[in-house]
Amino acid sequence: MKRVLITGGAGFLGSHLCENFLNKGSEVIAVDNLLTGRLANIEHLLDHPRFKFIKLDVTNYLHVPGKLDLVMHFASPASPADYQRWPIPTLKVGALGTHKALGLAKEKKAVFALASTSEVYGDPQVSPQPESYWGNVNPIGPRGVYDEAKRFAEAMTMAYHRSHGIPVRIVRIFNTYGPRMRQNDGRAVPNFVAQALRGKPITVYGDGSQTRSLTYVTDLVDGIDRLVRSGLNAPVNIGNPRELSLLEIAETVKRLTKSKSRIVFKALPEDDPKVRRPDITLARAKLHWEPKVPLEKGLPLTIADFRKSL
Ligand code: UDP
Repeated sequence: MKRVLITGGAGFLGSHLCENFLNKGSEVIAVDNLLTGRLANIEHLLDHPRFKFIKLDVTNYLHVPGKLDLVMHFASPASPADYQRWPIPTLKVGALGTHKALGLAKEKKAVFALASTSEVYGDPQVSPQPESYWGNVNPIGPRGVYDEAKRFAEAMTMAYHRSHGIPVRIVRIFNTYGPRMRQNDGRAVPNFVAQALRGKPITVYGDGSQTRSLTYVTDLVDGIDRLVRSGLNAPVNIGNPRELSLLEIAETVKRLTKSKSRIVFKALPEDDPKVRRPDITLARAKLHWEPKVPLEKGLPLTIADFRKSL
C-alpha cells in the first residue's frame, strides 16, 4: 500500500484513515468536496511530506497522475440528518462517485475499498445481522437515499470485481463514534455528548428502546486496515457486537459527563431501525479482528474531544 487515495479524506472516518496509512508509511492523497468533511480534521496533516489534499467532487471526475495501490471510497454524508438534508448529493456520491472511484482503481490496477454500511440491512428482521442477510429497506423512505445508494455501490463494486477482475473490499460499517465528529452532526452520540456538556436536554427519539451497537473509531480503522490487506472480495461487517438501547446510551453519556441535563423524549424518525447488531463471525475468523475499546473508554475520549471545541 505505497500510495493510497481516500475519497472523503477530510471526513470523520476519512481523516482517521489518512492518519492510519501515513503512520504505516504510505503516501496518502485525500479527496473531499467538504460538504460534510472539514479541513480542520486534516489541518495537522497538510505539512506532512507524504500527504496531499485535493478539493474535488468525486461525482463529477476523479483522476490523479501516477501509480495507486489502493483506492478507498469513503465520501458520503453519513448522518441521517445530513443525508436527509442532501438527498441528491448522497445518491450521487454513492452511485456516480462509486463508479468514478472504481474506474480509477481499474485504470491504476489498484485494490478498491468501499465504505458500506449496516444500513444495507435497513430495519432488520434478523438479529444479529450476518453478511448473508439481504436486509429490509424501504427504497422510497427518507433513509432510502443513503441505504439504496450504498446497496447500489455494493452491487457496482461486485460487478467491477466480476467483470474486470479488480480486487475489492467492502466494509459494512456499524455505528462508529469518536473524536472529530461534528457537534451538529445530528447522530446520537455527538448529539448526546454536546447536549450533556452544554447542560441542554438530552434528546432520545421514541421511547429509547431501539438498539445500536457502538464501535470506537480506532477499532473500526484497525478492522478496515486488516480488511484491505486481506484477500476478501466480499462484504465484511466491522462493528462492536455489544448492543445497547438508546436510553442506556443516553444515560451512560449523562453519567460520564456528570451532566445535570434532563433526558427528554422526542418523536421517533420515520423508518428508524428498531435493532442493530453486527454478527462478526467472519471478521473474527478471516481478519482475526475484534473490537478492543469498550464504551466506558471510548466515550470519555470522545467527551474530551468535544470539551476542547465547546
Ligand atoms: N437518536 C436519538 N437522539 C438523537 C439522535 C438520534 O435518540 O438526538 C436515535 C435515532 O433515532 C436512532 C439512534 O439514535 O434510533 C441512532 O441514530 P443515529 O442518527 O446516530 O444513526 P442511525 O443508527 O440511525 O443511522
